[in-house]
Amino acid sequence: MLRDQQIFDIIRKELERQRKGLELIASENFTSLQVMQAMGQVMTNKYAEGYPGHRYYGGCEFVDQSEQLAIDRAKQIFGVPYANVQPHSGAQANAAVMLAVLQPGDKILGLNLSMGGHLTHGSPVNYSGRLYQALFYGVDRESGRVDYDQLEQVALAEKPKLIICGASAYSRDWDYARIRKVADEIGAFVMADIAHPAGLIAKNLLQSPFEHCHFVTTTTHKTLRGPRGGMILMGKDFENPFGIKTPKGETRMMSSLIDAAVFPGIQGGPLEHVIAAKAVAFFEILTDEFTRYANQIIANAQAMANAFLEKGYHIVSGGTDNHLLLIDLRNKNITGRKAEQTLVKADITVNKNMVPFDDKSPFVTSGIRVGVPAITTRGLKEEHMPQIVEWIDELICDPDNEQKIARVKSAVNRFMEQFPLYPELG
Ligand code: PLP
Repeated sequence: MLRDQQIFDIIRKELERQRKGLELIASENFTSLQVMQAMGQVMTNKYAEGYPGHRYYGGCEFVDQSEQLAIDRAKQIFGVPYANVQPHSGAQANAAVMLAVLQPGDKILGLNLSMGGHLTHGSPVNYSGRLYQALFYGVDRESGRVDYDQLEQVALAEKPKLIICGASAYSRDWDYARIRKVADEIGAFVMADIAHPAGLIAKNLLQSPFEHCHFVTTTTHKTLRGPRGGMILMGKDFENPFGIKTPKGETRMMSSLIDAAVFPGIQGGPLEHVIAAKAVAFFEILTDEFTRYANQIIANAQAMANAFLEKGYHIVSGGTDNHLLLIDLRNKNITGRKAEQTLVKADITVNKNMVPFDDKSPFVTSGIRVGVPAITTRGLKEEHMPQIVEWIDELICDPDNEQKIARVKSAVNRFMEQFPLYPELG
């Protein structure tokens, strides 16, 4: 067969880009080579609608084994009785939970997108804000932390059917117990979307949502360091039927409602090659090496926060408990967009981000989000963080100085040579 050299050349360029840059996008990471190998294999050829042991296609004996391993390992990592590893992405995982427990028009309550929430938590441009009636809570203006009093007030007044916690740009831990208490008062479900900090929760470095939240959703490609994908987990509430009735009037277990919401509810055939790669990532998470990795993420994030604070940067909430920082640049006289564009010219990738009470649009923004999971995978340690902050600061303070950008870029490229990425790929 004629080889598609064009696309392989582009992939090669992407490898070189990843190798030479400082990857500070909080939602990105570098999987192991074996995770990528498990993704690029023959299971992409297989249809397997259904679940292990209950498929709508023949020839599923091996994908059954692989998917069952992924499920068992996911349950083991988080110490939970239920996992569905089929969601194609984090957004799909959230959609499935909502389909399982909500009717169109029901009220949902989530963290405002402009204060760190995710599109799928009720944004008007997303299915969640179009199908359901979305209500929001925010963060406190002074502390930058979730305003649980506001969450409680809105919940008691509006009685949403689902309360969503978790975020894309929030550097603090969550009080899941308090949210569940509010939910119990109004008979609401709680869904924790741990897409960002899941790898830290896996190693007990942050509060566990499983005791308090009915449903926990996550991506598998951020701090979990697996392939792009999603997953739904349930803690002790999984056996609770919650009085939810099928159209035939039978009461069903929550786990079977979630399974049915993923397939056939919102998806067709599962991506069994990606599920195999999830299994490999979960195998890696169960090792001591990953425990060290997760601890190093926190050490690096804190070292980076301290270095920014020393240079007079305003970190929302004053610091971090997890893998990311949200930096409000309003005292630095530069927008988030300009900062992102300038840094990317020097091969430092961050993303512009709204900050709480932002006066700029989502396309401009007043802030940047900076995360350390990817550079921690590359092998960077606390002692490297001040140098990174020094480079970022130099460019943010002088964003139109092309000479300086070129100098920082070549310093970044030389520095990253010390931390080889996929050397096996030549
Ligand atoms: N939930 C949160 C909190 C996220 O940050 C993200 C992605 O950034 C998602 C869900 C969606 O994940 P995906 O991009 O896999 O759909």
